[in-house]
Amino acid sequence: HPTYRIASIPADGIGPEVISAGITVLKKLVSTLGSFDLQFENFDWSSDTYKKTGKYLPDDALQTLKKFDAILFGAVGAPDVPDYISLWGLRLAICQPLQQYANVRPTKVFRGTQSPLRNCRTGDLDWVIIRENSEGEYAGHGGRSHINQPWETATEVSVFTRHGVERIMRFAFETAAKRPRKHITVVTKSNAQRNGMVLWDQIAKEVAREFPEVDVDKMLVDAMTTRMVLKPESIDTIVATNLHADILSDLAAALAGSIGIAPTSNLDPTRENPSMFEPVHGSAFDITGMGIANPVATFWTAVEMLKWLGEEKAGDALLEVVENVCERGIMTKDLGGSATTLEVTNAVCDEIQRKFGGKSSG
Ligand code: NAD
Ligand code: MN
Repeated sequence: HPTYRIASIPADGIGPEVISAGITVLKKLVSTLGSFDLQFENFDWSSDTYKKTGKYLPDDALQTLKKFDAILFGAVGAPDVPDYISLWGLRLAICQPLQQYANVRPTKVFRGTQSPLRNCRTGDLDWVIIRENSEGEYAGHGGRSHINQPWETATEVSVFTRHGVERIMRFAFETAAKRPRKHITVVTKSNAQRNGMVLWDQIAKEVAREFPEVDVDKMLVDAMTTRMVLKPESIDTIVATNLHADILSDLAAALAGSIGIAPTSNLDPTRENPSMFEPVHGSAFDITGMGIANPVATFWTAVEMLKWLGEEKAGDALLEVVENVCERGIMTKDLGGSATTLEVTNAVCDEIQRKFGGKSSG
């Protein structure tokens, strides 16, 4: 049976806590199902490495990562390192050269959990946000001049290319076409941002013609935030720029119950390079070391990773198990429960055993 090689990069804050929980659950799943194998290799690239050596990544990091089938990432960010250094030093330093241009962020209200929206029940909120992961304000163009002068100037140039927009738009429409509702909302800000965002609108129209089965609507990003709150059931797939989707997806996670459940995939859809899977949340230093980090985002991240590797059934099974555990009220504080990271992890392992342990394995 197949063996997949996984590079794990737990990095900072609660990253190591949730990645270790995720690996525990994955190992339990693999040993119980017995139909495929996962081989993990750990890389201790983090803000501590940076503070010791001045670098997040060794020079051959990308060559090393290319030998793996997938990357499981925790979170990066430390209180004593500026966030732009940690983000560009580790996460973006991997995503961008490995051409992981499609960032996929599914969100839903799990059985047993509660959305902060009064009338929103399981099933009313079931979205997938497709975030462009290589361009926009994150393209690395811009700079500062006349430092500390009254006329100091800083620019963050928002870069969009036809190639970049077409590939993410096509990926988003393909994603929408595979979902039951076949509905997509193209989010822009083409009233104010009259160059890049007008290109998005135009390419959305062109790509829409290739997908007659997909129902399309268009929304400005500010109006989209209100629609997410007031009419969550009207939304299915969303495609938006790097920055817009970053913001919308944190809102989405909160509306679904907690940032502690939301997963992200950074995909290279060409499969030339390994893709990277991580929880949406950051390193959460306010709760680091307390043993209360919600591991569910990492479990769902593991689900997305398994599906990308071709282990669809195992992925679906794991998500089902995690939802069952939530439904039984075994949840961390951010979801209104009182369980620890370890208790949720053990409950998920027990449920895997109960559901799939059967006669053959133990
Ligand atoms: P954060 O996601 O780390 O935390 C926001 C809030 O949500 C905190 O109150 C935190 O306790 C809570 N939270 C987050 N994850 C949780 C979990 N699994 N269980 C329970 N509660 C959880 O965002 P922040 O505070 O804005 O950023 C902290 C650091 O993380 C910064 O350095 C930031 O740059 C970094 N960051 C990294 C990533 C990434 O690695 N992809 C993403 C976002 C933020
Ligand atoms: Mn974010």
